[in-house]
Amino acid sequence: ALGGFEKMVSGLYMGELVRLILVKMAKEGLLFEGRITPELLTKGKFETKHVSAIENDSELKMLPTFVRSTPDGTENGDFLALDLGGTNFRVLLVKIRSGKRRTVEMHNKIYAIPIEVMQGTGEELFDHIVTCISDFLDYMGIKGARLPLGFTFSFPCKQTSLDAGILLNWTKGFKATDCEGEDVVYLLREGIKRREEFDLDVVAVVNDTVGTMMTCAYEDPNCEIGLIVGTGSNACYMEEMRNIEMVDGEQGRMCVNTEWGAFGDNGCLDDIRTIYDKAVDDFSLNAGKQRYEKMISGMYLGEIVRNILIDFTKRGFLFRGQISETLKTRHIFETKFLSQIESDRLALLQVRTILQQLGLNSTCDDSIIVKTVCGAVSRRAAQLCGAGMAAIVDKIRENRGLERLEITVGVDGTLYKLHPHFSRIMHQTVKELAPNCDVTFLLSEDGSGKGAALITAVGCRLREAEQN
Ligand code: BGC
Ligand code: MG
Repeated sequence: ALGGFEKMVSGLYMGELVRLILVKMAKEGLLFEGRITPELLTKGKFETKHVSAIENDSELKMLPTFVRSTPDGTENGDFLALDLGGTNFRVLLVKIRSGKRRTVEMHNKIYAIPIEVMQGTGEELFDHIVTCISDFLDYMGIKGARLPLGFTFSFPCKQTSLDAGILLNWTKGFKATDCEGEDVVYLLREGIKRREEFDLDVVAVVNDTVGTMMTCAYEDPNCEIGLIVGTGSNACYMEEMRNIEMVDGEQGRMCVNTEWGAFGDNGCLDDIRTIYDKAVDDFSLNAGKQRYEKMISGMYLGEIVRNILIDFTKRGFLFRGQISETLKTRHIFETKFLSQIESDRLALLQVRTILQQLGLNSTCDDSIIVKTVCGAVSRRAAQLCGAGMAAIVDKIRENRGLERLEITVGVDGTLYKLHPHFSRIMHQTVKELAPNCDVTFLLSEDGSGKGAALITAVGCRLREAEQN
């Protein structure tokens, strides 16, 4: 009978209150068709975390990845890796050697994925992928080898194990049919079977953020976050098992793929979205989806700029009020152009030359305005991205009950790597918004492929342990 107030407000009792209400409502026939299960009658069955989960209407998917630890240097073997969903599609052979002198040797080949294949049928897409694997095996002279394979698949997947991932929805430039709702490991295995040419052992499906984190963690054990700012944007981090409702077990940690690109899909970013963001979203392959990503990542920044330039031209501020055919062409401003235009080393005359190459005839004033617009758009992107990262590092600090947290973020992605100001502004924002965290950013070289191989190595080891 003590602590009555506490029992009405604190987390410890909240679930129990809810459970008792549910029991009463069920008894009165108002719920569950009047059926009362033994679980419902079990004291403590309903925890605070369940209450939060049910009430939580966040758009963040926070997907468990089944990666339970970062590499420890004992990973060993030869692996194939696929990297699908970034700027390039690649097939890789990764040779990892453990021991005193750990080494990772990589061979890879880049393949094009034609837009008709990205947006055709799922079968065509996976046949194409398998054709590329076949070519790569020939190229490396290893056709007969049945190597374990790690599949870096940079889209939101609901995983139930390391080697099963249901594609929730395509993002970025992909829209192949019959894949959403399917296990992409199954689709890949079926593709390999259809070809009847070689056999491969698909061991893991890996998000690129996770691959990047693992690659950097191989060098720096403090790396417990992965970040991608490329065609798309996303982050993953090591979360405490006790906070992950979707997976049983309370001990240790698991990497969670936040899929932060979908932040704002419930409208929570509406106050800061502009008419230009809206236009970019409306004309994208996935309207209304990935709103945060569309304000941050390489695939969309150029489109935001283009929409602003069109509006300015319509209002007579730019290009003598003439909207050229080029300006009407979608995706003309690729990340590399934005990066060039914003480079400090570039004289205005050179900005004009770049615009000229894009078929835009500009005056000197025009190029000043274009450069200013690019700067505003990329600065906002870097700051938004930094805000997201600040939230993650501070969450980890809270998880661990620390006054200060020292942590490393593994980063990859064309925008982050190529843009002259993005990384600096992003780092600065994290410093300002998470003053109690010392965050180091580590650039990952070839993150997705190497990371997928490292995860595959761990997957193989776990499987062997299970079999023994
Ligand atoms: C995808 C993520 C991916 C990110 C970076 C997003 O569009 O949803 O899964 O990590 O792009 O490639
Ligand atoms: Mg990539």
